[in-house]
Amino acid sequence: MFVKITSQGGISKGYFSVKDLNIVKLRISELLNNLRIPLCGFYYCIHDTNGNVEGSNRPCSCQKPLPGMLVEAASDHFIDLNQSWIIGDTINDVEAGNRAGCQTILIDNGGETEWLPGVFRKPDFKARNINEAAEQI
Ligand SMILES: [Zn+2]
Repeated sequence: MFVKITSQGGISKGYFSVKDLNIVKLRISELLNNLRIPLCGFYYCIHDTNGNVEGSNRPCSCQKPLPGMLVEAASDHFIDLNQSWIIGDTINDVEAGNRAGCQTILIDNGGETEWLPGVFRKPDFKARNINEAAEQI
């Protein structure tokens, strides 16, 4: 089962809208369908405490590195997080996955720029790209 989990604080900053994000979701779904991989869920966080769009410029429990979206997806789709993998390109993705009990793969492709250390911030594996990540799994 493939589920997309994404932080989209740009919505809170007014850079783009949920409608725009839904266009991206559709495109991702199309591309995955071409590979015969159904997109079973698409979870996003629109919050950013530095945002200026009313309603989304507040703290939340869903923004990575918190595991809220993973826990919600697991509940919605009966996913065993201990048997699941998260693939991400930031350490916040890794931390969210580790906090949720997933195995974690960091794609080191320049997405991470801060490399802040922490207890939950070490990936189980590193990969250069999505193909290497898939091979690890
Ligand atoms: Zn949120």
